Amino acid sequence: MKTYDLLIIGGGPGGYVAAIKGTQLGLSVGLVERDKVGGVCLHKGCIPTKALIQSTHLYELCKRSKEYGIVTEGVSADFSAFHKRKRTIVTKLFSGIEHLLKKNKVDTLNGTGQIISPDKVLVKEGGKSKGNICKNIIVATGSSPMVFDGLPYDQKSILTSDDILELEEIPSSLLIIGGGAIGVEFAYVYNALGSKVTVVEMMDEILPTNDKDVGNALRKSLTKKDIKFLTKTDLSLIEIKENSVETTVKKNDGNTEILQSEKVLLAMGRKPETKDSGLEELNLEFNGRFINVDENMQTSQPGIYAIGDVSGPPLLAHLASAQGMLVAHNIADKDFPPINNNTIPGVTYTNPQVAGVGMSQEAAELEGYDVKIGRFPLMANSKTQIIGEGEEGFIKVITDASSGEILGVHLIGHEVGELIGCMSLAMNLEATNLEVSANIFPHPTLSEVFAEAFHAVEGKAIHI
Ligand code: FAD
Repeated sequence: MKTYDLLIIGGGPGGYVAAIKGTQLGLSVGLVERDKVGGVCLHKGCIPTKALIQSTHLYELCKRSKEYGIVTEGVSADFSAFHKRKRTIVTKLFSGIEHLLKKNKVDTLNGTGQIISPDKVLVKEGGKSKGNICKNIIVATGSSPMVFDGLPYDQKSILTSDDILELEEIPSSLLIIGGGAIGVEFAYVYNALGSKVTVVEMMDEILPTNDKDVGNALRKSLTKKDIKFLTKTDLSLIEIKENSVETTVKKNDGNTEILQSEKVLLAMGRKPETKDSGLEELNLEFNGRFINVDENMQTSQPGIYAIGDVSGPPLLAHLASAQGMLVAHNIADKDFPPINNNTIPGVTYTNPQVAGVGMSQEAAELEGYDVKIGRFPLMANSKTQIIGEGEEGFIKVITDASSGEILGVHLIGHEVGELIGCMSLAMNLEATNLEVSANIFPHPTLSEVFAEAFHAVEGKAIHI
């Protein structure tokens, strides 16, 4: 039986990052993974979707190549080649993580991890099991797609994100249930490749956790590309017919509508992976379906931590990794700043992209802030004109009128996901409205919109 300072169950971006950080800080670390290190993010989430989105975006751009003075003929999309490129990227990154784990002397244990007691974890594989003694345990088992009981989920006509990522044909029509980030990203890809796409969202706007203006602007932009959105609409029934799927949806005015499509994508959310790891017997506290944790990701059992998707929303890879690093530092008794839940950036990788950090205007007002808003249209930014994309976009900054504190920053436009990290940093460093507007951003870049938007809080943007 081996003894570890830290044993981690689950090798996704939460678990493998915690493992590497743990050994870097001098801990002996075992990492149990039953499938492939990299987790959902690398194999079924962030990376494969963004690889498909990149090819899709290039395809869209090639069709507009004349505008840029480039003559192309017969532009067409080879979706199998999109997938081939996607697999090459995933494989490359997967071997990169395997190499890093080896280099950092993490003991990778293949199999399913099951906690027997707060200091013992069994690793089971192929009918065999091996016990490990551990001083600390991190549960980083992630999440899987939510499929409600009673849905005729067959993985052929009715798909989850796991299934659609393996689909190499373009369906003539696709109905997507759920207008969150995952739903709209797939809507963007399949619409651009020729599917007739409809998105059903039960809330009054898509991307319901974002600032409403931004969700609204994305809906308008994607509607122009011929994606149909039905908001305030809930799923009632799905039936698989001979050549199509028949979906009955109910609007919030009580009316129902029947929608026919070749395929349906279920993108209604994700559920934590809490089976198989012995959590039931440990009597851990839960918050709904998710493991309840404190600000140090400590569960109700001392010495057992939970990080990433299994510990609750927002379900984001970079948050899982940050939580993993925090726990590794705490166990190694090394300083690390606490996680500020108000400065976690989020991005939706459609074209245009949506990026945000901090509170939405609605949330800030609900909290009682006297908000002062600055807006700047991306069309007035010279780099946006040079790029030739995202002209319909904008930046919206939400500040506290009395202190100038930045409460939230939201953008829609070309590649704005690349920009939002610097606003997360500004908020973590408690920069004020005035300090950001006085910062010098390089010209011509998209980042200039930050200075403009913060000047706009005082009604004094330069280029509008
Ligand atoms: P996971 O990545 O889910 O990894 C958990 C690992 O634990 C898995 O490898 C699993 O095999 C293993 N495991 C589970 N139980 C056991 C057990 N008992 N024993 C051993 N191993 C076990 N997030 C972003 O930040 N940006 C994005 O662009 C983005 N895009 C996404 C697109 C899609 C389609 C999806 C589905 C998700 C996306 N996400 C994105 C979310 C992101 O993938 C997750 O937030 C992230 O993977 C969570 O990391 P994790 O370490 O908590 O768990």
